[in-house]
Amino acid sequence: MANQTILPNYYNGKWMIADSGEKLEVRNPANGELISYVPLSSRNTVDEVANCARKAFSEWRRTPVTKRIQYLFKLKDLLEENLEKIAQTITDECGKTIHESRGELRRAIENVEVACGAPLNMQGYNNEDIATGIDEIMIRQPIGVAAVIAPFNFPAMIPFWFMPYAIATGNTCIIKPSERVPNTMNIIFELIDQLDLPDGVINMVHGDHRVADAILEHPEINSISFVGSTPVAKIVYEKAAKHGKRVQASGGAKNPIILLPDADPEMSTRIVADSAFGCAGQRCLAASLAITVGEARKTFREALGEKASSINVGYGLDESVEMGPVITQQSRSRIESLIDEGTSNGAKILVDGRNPEGPAFRGGNFVKPTILEDMQPNNPLVRTEIFGPVLSMMHAETVDDAIKLINSGDYGNMACLFTSSGASARKFKYEAEAGNIGINIGVAAPMAFFPFSGWKDSFFGDLHGQGKNAFEFFTRQKVVVERWPDTWTRTF
Ligand code: NAD
Repeated sequence: MANQTILPNYYNGKWMIADSGEKLEVRNPANGELISYVPLSSRNTVDEVANCARKAFSEWRRTPVTKRIQYLFKLKDLLEENLEKIAQTITDECGKTIHESRGELRRAIENVEVACGAPLNMQGYNNEDIATGIDEIMIRQPIGVAAVIAPFNFPAMIPFWFMPYAIATGNTCIIKPSERVPNTMNIIFELIDQLDLPDGVINMVHGDHRVADAILEHPEINSISFVGSTPVAKIVYEKAAKHGKRVQASGGAKNPIILLPDADPEMSTRIVADSAFGCAGQRCLAASLAITVGEARKTFREALGEKASSINVGYGLDESVEMGPVITQQSRSRIESLIDEGTSNGAKILVDGRNPEGPAFRGGNFVKPTILEDMQPNNPLVRTEIFGPVLSMMHAETVDDAIKLINSGDYGNMACLFTSSGASARKFKYEAEAGNIGINIGVAAPMAFFPFSGWKDSFFGDLHGQGKNAFEFFTRQKVVVERWPDTWTRTF
């Protein structure tokens, strides 16, 4: 990509140059090349965006739902037609492989498809004659202006956990992409621009935490859908609540998987390695702690070590590459110092992916797959989100000990079990304290028609993204009790 200009915002149906003059560089994490500049928009711009989204709301909510979803059908077609171009942009600015970028877009499109079910999914319910001649109905109405604050690791998919549902149910929407990966949404907004939506229905404002702050405090914005790290999710949850907004805030993760001795060795190794090292470990559903039970220790130590060493790392546009770089140089340094911290607290290095050498890695933020073993429960790394291609291995004597260890953690995004025993699987499903559970699955990412169910410090709020929860989050329930004189005595 050669467009090294300052990206515009998009609101009121137009591309708008940000007024602040402040900007950040966006660089390709695989080679350090400058891709573009992202504007750090001002509070004033957020005000303009929020006001135009508010203005658009009154007409948009009156647009029949059957008509509103027609725009989404068209958006799906445009996303399909432009899939390759968007996928390349994701790879260029986010670093994941082209296969992962295509997969991410498929997930985004799936959410558009599910949101097209709004005519059925936003229905209310009713009872006739709750007393003689009196009826009661519950109607779902849109909440107003919905804002989305997104993280860097899924620049296309995560805004789509929210935006299609928000507009299908009659809200207008503002997206603030991550300032580290702003180009993907700009390309998607080129498609949104072709939809001929009424002005102000879908808007985008670029910027950093100051733009997020202005969104959280703006009186014309009614709901916040946030995804990012746990410390920020906590801030967002509190600030949005303080300003009277409905809020759903997804946070970070430290996802454990248990490997039992009866797990299929070959399949489990492949799946666990993909979970730990896919997207360079920068998935909120990445396995980062493998707990072996009994004899599984020896089997998986060797198999995972071999697999991690064989992964082809490089620039993700090369179709043969299996893992790309991490997002920034700072991220790379943070990951490397966390590996040091793990070893200085007693862990041993089974596979060391630090400082890879060779022309393919020059200028990029590469850390190759890394495995730490003999991790003890008191090692701080057991509880720290690394968000890089690092798998820590530890051992438990029994499945009960392993589940106890999992449940003692602060996060609850995902927990997985690898086994061929139905009884162990049932126990795990029943007892593990996480919102997304995988049984012989390494990335238990719910389909768009199920909620993305983080628990504990991985989620703050009540209603999650996707699925029926999304239709509930973006609508308010109104209950009407009605009586019409004469109707209880008249015969028709
Ligand atoms: P981040 O928290 O640094 O940033 C997320 C968004 O919040 C960005 O748009 C950023 O501009 C904004 N922001 C930053 N500081 C803020 C502040 N003080 N107030 C308000 N807004 C602020 O997260 P990231 O590094 O972009 O993304 C990685 C994190 O996201 C990881 O922790 C990962 O686990 C998590 N994540 C979670 C899920 C999930 O579903 N639970 C999904 C994807 C990523």
